[in-house]
Amino acid sequence: MSKNRVLNIPTPADFESDALSSLNLAFETFERFIRNHKYVIEDAGDETSDAILHLIKSKSHFINIINLCFLSCELSIKSKICEVSPYLLLEGPRNHPKSANQPLSFGSLRSISASDLKKVCEIFVPDHYSNSGWDFFDKLRKFRNEATHTSMSETPKLLDIFEIITDTCKYFYESKNPFPLRIKLIEESEAILEAPDHLRNWAVYEFDRLRNFFGSKYFKENFGIPDTKLLPCGVCYNSGSDWNDQPGTARIEKDKIYCYACGNHDEYYRRHCIICERPNLFSKIGDICLNCGHSAL
Ligand SMILES: [Zn+2]
Ligand SMILES: [Zn+2]
Repeated sequence: MSKNRVLNIPTPADFESDALSSLNLAFETFERFIRNHKYVIEDAGDETSDAILHLIKSKSHFINIINLCFLSCELSIKSKICEVSPYLLLEGPRNHPKSANQPLSFGSLRSISASDLKKVCEIFVPDHYSNSGWDFFDKLRKFRNEATHTSMSETPKLLDIFEIITDTCKYFYESKNPFPLRIKLIEESEAILEAPDHLRNWAVYEFDRLRNFFGSKYFKENFGIPDTKLLPCGVCYNSGSDWNDQPGTARIEKDKIYCYACGNHDEYYRRHCIICERPNLFSKIGDICLNCGHSAL
């Protein structure tokens, strides 16, 4: 009976899941920084020495975020290659161990370098990434190589770091608007520790905080999120809890409501709102007034 000589062969799902965890951690680190940075700005003012010092002291966070995004892209590419064959991820026979009397673990064999992933995709993977996606990956790869040899010389702009995260979502996860993906990742990764309703509150406040920080104009240009006052989302309301003041994340589009934070559709109906003291549109799923967020139940 023949036995497999190579053990622990990875699957595309293994790579995909690790790729998404890295992206989620990058997002998480960045969001935590922004939350704290807002306190510093509120306290000391923007572009003050305290605010600048906070940026300088956080350089290692930024380097880690960029490295995590690079890792996420790399693992995502590997997942696609692995769908064709995991062995395409290995260097040629010249680099195999000299004698292999014992079964080998896949991880002990030398893998191809990040700079060769594009070549492998071009030859073997029928449907891979756009040229802009590969250019972005190359930019991150060069940064990663540089960052491991020298420390980051300049303090990066926060928008540049945010863009690295959102471009990873755009080019490698087909999410031009990164937030529905982020909510999915938060809820999948943290659900063991936190109640799901708390996680939804957290995710929706994060959407609102980042939109306020970088501006709704930027969000419109880059993620297609309208530059207008957004309405509370009935789906998020239902999935969250104890809202004091639910941030606006949704908009009416023809006969539906679409939420830019969770990516779900809802319908609406008309009834009298006792807070607004007039007839208003209410979310069908959440039964909340789309004007003031008051619950009809
Ligand atoms: Zn929502
Ligand atoms: Zn109302």
